[in-house]
Amino acid sequence: MDGDTGIIVYRLGAACDVGDVEEGKIYSGKVQGFAPFGSFVLLNDRVKGLIHKSNVKTRHNEQDSVLVRVRTIRPNGNIDLEEVTPSLYHTEVVLKKTAGVQLRDLGKYIGRMVRVEGEVAQIKQTGGPTIFTLVDGNGTVNAAAFIEAGVRAYPEVQLGDIVSIHGEVMQRNSQLQVEVSGLAVLQGEEADRVRGAIDAALTERATPVERPFLVESPVLEKLRVPMLHVAAALRKAVFLGQPILVRHHADADGICAAVAIEQAVVSLIRENGGEHDADFFLFKRSPSKAPFYEIEDITRDLDFALKDFVRYGQKLPLILLADNGSTEEDIPSLRMAAVYGLTVLVVDHHHPDTVVDPYLAGHVNPYHVGGDYGITTGMLGTEIARMVNPAVEGRILHLPAVSAVGDRSEAPERGKYLALVKDGYSEDHCKEIALALDYNQFWLRFNDGRELVKDLLDLSAHPARHAKLLAHLVEGANAAIADQLAASMPHVSPRVLENGVHLFLLDVELHAHKFTFPPPGKTSGEVHDRLIQQHPGTPVVTIGFGPDFAVLRSRGVLMNIPRMVRELRDEIRGGGVSGGGHLVVGSIKFVEGMREMVMEALIAKIARAPLAGPTGTSPSAPADTPKPL
Ligand code: MN
Repeated sequence: MDGDTGIIVYRLGAACDVGDVEEGKIYSGKVQGFAPFGSFVLLNDRVKGLIHKSNVKTRHNEQDSVLVRVRTIRPNGNIDLEEVTPSLYHTEVVLKKTAGVQLRDLGKYIGRMVRVEGEVAQIKQTGGPTIFTLVDGNGTVNAAAFIEAGVRAYPEVQLGDIVSIHGEVMQRNSQLQVEVSGLAVLQGEEADRVRGAIDAALTERATPVERPFLVESPVLEKLRVPMLHVAAALRKAVFLGQPILVRHHADADGICAAVAIEQAVVSLIRENGGEHDADFFLFKRSPSKAPFYEIEDITRDLDFALKDFVRYGQKLPLILLADNGSTEEDIPSLRMAAVYGLTVLVVDHHHPDTVVDPYLAGHVNPYHVGGDYGITTGMLGTEIARMVNPAVEGRILHLPAVSAVGDRSEAPERGKYLALVKDGYSEDHCKEIALALDYNQFWLRFNDGRELVKDLLDLSAHPARHAKLLAHLVEGANAAIADQLAASMPHVSPRVLENGVHLFLLDVELHAHKFTFPPPGKTSGEVHDRLIQQHPGTPVVTIGFGPDFAVLRSRGVLMNIPRMVRELRDEIRGGGVSGGGHLVVGSIKFVEGMREMVMEALIAKIARAPLAGPTGTSPSAPADTPKPL
């Protein structure tokens, strides 16, 4: 062939791996050893190929220098060589390139061989190839490596490794995929360089764009920094291909917060080029019966996460607790999460205990900045969702209003969020949605009801179905509540305490339907609502109790239920007292045999509680009472 002087022989640099070797090119190498079928040749200390005996041109001794052309690089990294003997050539050194093709640019390379670098975010063994999900600072792609159907390729690769992959960019359906020809795990400096670049790019990309809040609110302004922090953590998890689990209190407020974030995260996952079903395995929303992270919840979450890790090669999730997570009662679960190094974020408006903070990577709570539960989790969650992904804003504007009426916020923000959506959603409409969410969740139990809840919240672009479903559920809920009250109200026993509080007691175990809607907490709340209407201008406390629990509702009394619970726990030996909740609304558990004593001590404390001053300025009662049953 003419132009022999133009032949380039490449010398592979020491840092190079199989990903730097290209088919068709000529390399210098050293004979390393022999097999019956040919000669092994090292292209550098770590890249080895084989010259099949049919392609050997000269006689070989160990350590001989040879020139070889790369015929093929097999998916398992094996390199087939043929010996060449050009008379004229010049040598060029192949240095490890600083970076391969950026993942966001892969679309320009369809049908071509590329080298890409990134972190392994998931390793999934299919019946065919092994799928490595790769992320870099600005994109994600699946790389398919095949040795044999159903057999794990590159078993040395671990989740979280930094790898360099050489392969062809293919289009599968609408998805880009790299067919792996070579894959090397980067170590030491090379890995540090790639990891550093990914981290810097991701941190920048994860930073939310700052925009004004939907309503004017001094409390929200003071929470802006921790909210941005939570939004950035969620964005970063999406870009890293890390699953996100939102655990939320199973009431209208908790659902609104979690669904707002679900909308933002799921559409960000899709924008980021996730597979069509990525939003199902990369995002989970799970309701918690109590407004705290119960041991039962963390146990289930860890069980699933660890199985997904083993079975689907998935990273452990980032956990966001919404409308729970702020109190001492969360500690056992947070400690359990810490055993596995899980990152936990909290967005809550329950009165926080500082003991949770060492376990949290972020904590948004209006009490930290002088606000209170009137800033609902639905407001916080919706504003954070806008930071995560502004594109979903138009769909979720009404969620803060629904959460505000659901949790009976009396903060000025309630009216502002209602005003924001008044043309589409009247206050009554919002109340109906909140009631229907509670009713629906009662029957959903532990399930998230993702699609049903979307219809209920009018997020599924079927307004007629939303209206029908809403009307049906509201009718069912109201009928059930009317039934319950008809049975319960005649059994309410009144008492006037020495501080002037009108106390009403109801045994919800004996005088209410069990195992149906409304459950004891909600039944007590509904009873309380009727009683405060019947006693305008009077301080009122309603206690619905069962064999081993009591649910408290109040108006016009300055109570601190978490403190009362702590005192009762210390004062009543063998009472087994626990519980908590909001300051003026909450629940208490105790052992059945000590009910009399605990109830009397509790009532004595209520009788000493100061009143809230002239009626009308009384502290209101949020609706999301802990549900003990
Ligand atoms: Mn709430």
